[in-house]
Amino acid sequence: MAAEAHPNTVLPFEDARHVVENHARNVPRPTNSESVPLLESPGRILAEAVLADRDFPPFPRATRDGYAVRAADVATVPAKLKLIGEIKAGATLLSGEGNQSLAAGETAAIMTGAPAPPGADAVVMVEYTSRERDHVTIKRSVHSGENIVPVGSEARRGQVLLSAGHRMDYAAIALAASVGKTNLQGWRRPRIAILATGDEIVPITATPGPAQIRNSNSYSLAAQVQQRGGEPVILQVAPDEPKRLRELIETGLHSDLLLLAGGVSMGKYDLVEQVLAELRAEFFFTGVLIQPGRPVVFGRVRDTYFFGLPGNPVSTMVTFELFVRPMLDAVAGAVPTPLIFSKARLKADVKTKTGLTRFLPATLSGELDQPEVALAAWQGSGDIAALARSNCYLVIPPDRERIPAGEMVSVLMR
Ligand code: AMP
Ligand code: MG
Repeated sequence: MAAEAHPNTVLPFEDARHVVENHARNVPRPTNSESVPLLESPGRILAEAVLADRDFPPFPRATRDGYAVRAADVATVPAKLKLIGEIKAGATLLSGEGNQSLAAGETAAIMTGAPAPPGADAVVMVEYTSRERDHVTIKRSVHSGENIVPVGSEARRGQVLLSAGHRMDYAAIALAASVGKTNLQGWRRPRIAILATGDEIVPITATPGPAQIRNSNSYSLAAQVQQRGGEPVILQVAPDEPKRLRELIETGLHSDLLLLAGGVSMGKYDLVEQVLAELRAEFFFTGVLIQPGRPVVFGRVRDTYFFGLPGNPVSTMVTFELFVRPMLDAVAGAVPTPLIFSKARLKADVKTKTGLTRFLPATLSGELDQPEVALAAWQGSGDIAALARSNCYLVIPPDRERIPAGEMVSVLMR
């Protein structure tokens, strides 16, 4: 039978992750880009570099409300300076004619965001001054450059601010806005086929029979795909029957990446690997020593990569985060991002068995310098409610049987 045609390759977590990352590095990048309005760009991957259209800041920018001075004039305090005008944000002129410069012994009132006048090299905060008509007494010295951001110190005109491959987020949008980009060239979103399997799975619009389950996996996967800049293509649910399953897999292989959910365990009706083997798939791994998600499969048919994710909904979501993301990043034209773990103090003892790296639904809480994490109460990898109420995964290394409360543990944010 074709099901036995490929060897089983069950890898430790980190090895499996490296296998995906190595393939992701060599995936051909997208070739088609399109113009994307700035406000529609969150999550999109830049196909062009964004350049500084002028120096940033374009003028020596005051960072405080106060008085522009020559630092040398206020080396000894108190120092009494002659007030020659006021500069507000958006203005370049001192009172009077032209872009006057500050002469020795002079000062000008200046507001946050306003250009420091030529001659001034520091700003004294208003709190350290007092004013009598046309004189200001400075009560605290400043060093040269204090409270002024020099011209071009953030970026020089023509400098690359964002490179192609950058994933747009609110900070990148602020940067693009600051150089006047109303539209950006973004890579066309990759089409990611989503194929849920299982005789018991019904559409979410149906009233499920007593033994039927609504298809939640296609929706969680679609949401995860969208979040990473892909375009989900949800296929019909495949029955546990090879012919129709094969047809749907063939359809899915026309996309940039195929995600299957369900049918990869050891049961009699878990046919996904068998059908993929019939299609002459290469399998890079057929299981990973993790919980949840141990039966996860990664491979390629002809030029299209696929993941066979376990159908238990929490396993489906976790294995997407752990393995699909780098490949999706790659086909989307993004630089794949590593998994980023944080540390938090474990609130209550955890007991498990050794052998698997575990990514268990958990809740991170606590103050700024006291992050704490506790396992969510859950009924195993079918418990979507527990996952939805949690906000992170607590990572348990494969060699730990018991982790005592108080220990710093790794957490993967969601
Ligand atoms: P499987 O991986 O096919 O053995 O499925 C494991 C468990 O996940 C079973 O309880 C399935 O009913 C459930 N399951 C499989 N696919 C889906 C889906 N698309 N939506 C919700 N639950 C699913
Ligand atoms: Mg199934």
